[in-house]
Amino acid sequence: IVKSDIYYDLDDEDYSREGLGRNFTGKVVLTTGSSSGIGEGIVKLFSRLGANVVVTGRKANEVQRVAEEAQELSPLKLKPLAIVADVTKSADLNRLISKTIDTYGKLDILVNNAGAGFYGPFRAPDFLTKFDQSVALNLRAYLELTHLAVPYLDKTNGTIISISSTSSTLPTPGGLAYEVAKTGVDMMTRTLALELGPRIRVNTINPGLILTNFINHTDPDVITKIDKEVIARTPLKRPGVPLDIARAVVFLASKEASFITAANLVPLRQQFDKSDNPRSQQVTGRKS
Ligand code: NDP
Repeated sequence: IVKSDIYYDLDDEDYSREGLGRNFTGKVVLTTGSSSGIGEGIVKLFSRLGANVVVTGRKANEVQRVAEEAQELSPLKLKPLAIVADVTKSADLNRLISKTIDTYGKLDILVNNAGAGFYGPFRAPDFLTKFDQSVALNLRAYLELTHLAVPYLDKTNGTIISISSTSSTLPTPGGLAYEVAKTGVDMMTRTLALELGPRIRVNTINPGLILTNFINHTDPDVITKIDKEVIARTPLKRPGVPLDIARAVVFLASKEASFITAANLVPLRQQFDKSDNPRSQQVTGRKS
């Protein structure tokens, strides 16, 4: 087994545990943005759990690297299907689906994950350009790929999991272009769960701070000032790593989640840290 670079030892992930619904042998999983970060963690964990995985992104060398590492983790050394594609291009999305079906004959699990942050003040002259780019990548690509995948997911009683963000629930100045797109992903999940059920389950995970290229570092030892401020407001007091999210994706795709649909897994982040929350200084109640 090759040591994973996603900070946890995948040797602990026992794909053979009977009854846990975590054996994905024979399942076909397509995860966008799987050449890095959260998507990389997702394809590696599914590969470890026996699935056939599709690895995709724009950078050919990274797609190849992840495909090779995922193959090493596979109990049967199954070779992933590696596809270089830009999810903002319709032709590439069509190719993703057709190659997956040509290779495996079916699709069981679709993970919409490829995304990126687009930040800047509303008053900036390029705001609308950023907005359009953000929606194209973080929302429209999810919808378009889902639209192409549904006929195949219908046949397998498949499931869809989309990666949104805490940003859909936490407004920040300068975050509008990204927040609106991710809010759309949350609503897409709820409406599609109604429309595609009972055949297809549809869920969303809204990660908080995860150490990936998205925040420009993957090193747990590099904790920036902004990281610290965010971490201080979270219950577990540590940043997430890709495998944390991958485990939640696997759970939602597993038999364990057979009655879970239309859900958004949104982590809690308190608005104030204890030290700067004026209420924490307040003494209430009767004196004895
Ligand atoms: P990374 O930057 O590590 O990974 C992003 C992935 O998306 C890469 O594989 C990248 O590959 C791919 N990608 C980006 N643009 C395109 C495109 N146009 N076409 C095809 N693939 C593309 O970031 P994360 O793993 O952190 O991000 C994954 C998801 O998680 C995103 O949707 C992000 O919004 C969300 N998220 C992340 C958080 C975090 O703190 N990290 C917090 C909340 C949400 P390539 O560059 O090769 O195309």
